[in-house]
Amino acid sequence: MNSRRRFLTLSALGSLTSLGSLKALAQPKPVKGPVILSTWNPGIRANARAYEVLQNGGSVLDCVEKGVNVIENDPNNRTVGIGGFPDVEGNVTLDACIMDQHQHCGSVAFLQHIKNPVSVARKVMENTKHVMLVGEGALNFALEQGFKKEMLLTEKTLAAWKKRKAELDTKLPEINVENHDTIGMVARDTDGNLSGSCTTSGAGMKLHGRVGDSPIIGAGLYVDNDVGAAAATGWGEAVIENAGSAMVVELMRHGRSPQEACEEIVNRIANKFEDWKSIQVGFIALNKAGQTGAFAIQKGFTYALHKNGENVGHPSDSLLKT
Ligand code: ASP
Repeated sequence: MNSRRRFLTLSALGSLTSLGSLKALAQPKPVKGPVILSTWNPGIRANARAYEVLQNGGSVLDCVEKGVNVIENDPNNRTVGIGGFPDVEGNVTLDACIMDQHQHCGSVAFLQHIKNPVSVARKVMENTKHVMLVGEGALNFALEQGFKKEMLLTEKTLAAWKKRKAELDTKLPEINVENHDTIGMVARDTDGNLSGSCTTSGAGMKLHGRVGDSPIIGAGLYVDNDVGAAAATGWGEAVIENAGSAMVVELMRHGRSPQEACEEIVNRIANKFEDWKSIQVGFIALNKAGQTGAFAIQKGFTYALHKNGENVGHPSDSLLKT
């Protein structure tokens, strides 16, 4: 090799090496220990329970199930489980799903009378050959599995429903925290394994029979144990149309940080959904290294993060600032 060629080869090698080391330097330091991330302020209570489950030897799947059960069991939470806001006809219909580190998932949609749909979703995953059960079939399955039939409509939600019914029009629902409170949770255990869950009573005043993004694997929730996990909240139709959570995970697979991935999908939804300024959509994401991200269309989205032994609520950044 002549000296000029050798020089070029060596400098190319040199810059490759320094690029390699720069890249290595840019890699996030993996977070040690469990990381639990969930949507909205009630996520703090859900995270606390989820962490306790892990500390007591539960799996990361147990952690994401039991964590969100806390909110499903709370009659004062208007958008999940018992006390969830009814559809336009006054029926509480619940959607939920769960996904584990082995790419297994379970889901229920349009489920009535059972306050823990996420646990029924887990039974679908573990005790059937299927991924998703809906409506009466899901209810019958839940009863067979030992779940109790309950009245999910509370006096408070009935009163609120009557008021909303009286002022109902055809516009998209008003953007406020009360309308958007799906609990999505993604978690990583100390060994680096991921799982996620998502549970909701769906958009308030939805049409009877409407199913949102929350029980749809890839929309409301997605987990890939090689990459990361993501969950969504907000106007489910926009999330389904863009395969939201699966896209967030896919972007992380291609090198985006969880924060970048959430921002890119929210921007994409805003570009494609005509009425985007009238809806809220928010994502949370977690990668294998324990890095997290969150982003929403509207101001006001919050998330809860349990990391390094601390469990704290945070405001998310958003596309619209006011
Ligand atoms: N994503 C849920 C749905 O569309 C509701 C929400 O998070 O507000 O059913």
